[in-house]
Amino acid sequence: CGIVGYAGPQAQAPSSRPVDVALQGLARLEYRGYDSAGVAVIDDGSVRVTKRAGKLANLRAALEGGAETTGRVAIAHTRWATHGGPTNTNAHPHLGGRHGELAVVHNGIIENFAHLRAELEADGYAFTSETDSEAAAHLVAREMETAGDLTEAMRRAAASLEGAFTLLAVHQDAPDTVVAARRNSPLVVGLGEGENFLGSDVAAFVDSTKEALEIGQDQVVTVTADDVAIFDFEGHEVTDAKRYTIEWDAAA
Ligand code: GLU
Repeated sequence: CGIVGYAGPQAQAPSSRPVDVALQGLARLEYRGYDSAGVAVIDDGSVRVTKRAGKLANLRAALEGGAETTGRVAIAHTRWATHGGPTNTNAHPHLGGRHGELAVVHNGIIENFAHLRAELEADGYAFTSETDSEAAAHLVAREMETAGDLTEAMRRAAASLEGAFTLLAVHQDAPDTVVAARRNSPLVVGLGEGENFLGSDVAAFVDSTKEALEIGQDQVVTVTADDVAIFDFEGHEVTDAKRYTIEWDAAA
């Protein structure tokens, strides 16, 4: 339903941790409605996921006293369930990989998830949820094993997914990077100073920046604190992404 991504510098103050930036974005997306919420960060070389069914307050309570202070990236999600009930387990982010080395958030519906799930389970990937989204998490993780590069892994995975998706992923081996892809579902980049944002709509980051880049159909984008790179699903770099300034009524 709602998606936020953040890539920034080492957190300077407790209130500017990536996890807090992500929560602020989720609060801005609450108006869309949701049944669960969650966030993933990379802390001390591992992916950490916190997620809860119900309101954002439940997620905030679960994060209280959390040790997620050292990382530079976060991805977060408010879910509107389509496959699997609104439970803690089915909430996003979903871990992927043989050791939970990656986390994914997903908006939309992956039409060929059952086929992919059977194939990935046969290959030894353990599923824990009933969602279509978890298949995307393991698929990106498997592509990462052979590609060794998160952008290329997302590109290969996205090209073999059918349906509608905005996908964001973080991986323990790329602790400065958030990679994303979209097909039939919206994705916008927010350009900051020494930090960059991703959102399913500009509300996700409008408190932090008004400069945005539109991501086109069937494109992959890789975001770090200082860099944004866009490719199509064939791997060609996209250099003509539309940049614009968000007009936002602060009273809204
Ligand atoms: N199809 C996914 C699920 O049911 C994502 C739903 C959404 O867009 O929030 O978990």
